Amino acid sequence: MGEPPRPKWLDSARGLLALVAALVFATGALAALTIRQAPAVAESPPCDPAAVMKQRLDELGRDGYDWIITSNALGENRGRADIDNRIVRIRTTVGCDYMSSVVTHEWVHVQQGHRYGDDLGRTYDAFGAHELEMVADCGSMLLGSPKHPYVDDAGGVCSPYEVDTARRLIAESNAAPSVKASAR
Ligand SMILES: [Zn+2]
Repeated sequence: MGEPPRPKWLDSARGLLALVAALVFATGALAALTIRQAPAVAESPPCDPAAVMKQRLDELGRDGYDWIITSNALGENRGRADIDNRIVRIRTTVGCDYMSSVVTHEWVHVQQGHRYGDDLGRTYDAFGAHELEMVADCGSMLLGSPKHPYVDDAGGVCSPYEVDTARRLIAESNAAPSVKASAR
């Protein structure tokens, strides 16, 4: 007793199914190959605060000062301009979110020092402790810094004296024309 002969249409239907399956597989394999060959999406490198500092200083100018990132004690400050010795120190803990703002704030201190012969005593006496910081922070804000803690502490407002003084310091600086134009 053999099996009854299969109708021919069944064979051809199976053959068609196999062909379709093979095609689907081939298409899938091609897609997988395409995905594998697609260039890997480049991951952005982690932000380097030193690179941000360099980029900002390239715009502002170093003005004859050494600009260094250091773990030296700076009290509670993120940065400090040593006007007598023409050194600006910025804490190692300053990240990319603050770096440009800190550099710009210290750079305005450098301009304040230039006006008074790079003599901290004369500069300090001319501005006083409060306005020394306010003018630096208002200048930094004029130059687009997103962080300006002294201005924030003063209610977010710069006085006309602070704005005028900062504008003049920026205008008389060696900063690139595009930087001067950005002070608003
Ligand atoms: Zn300051």
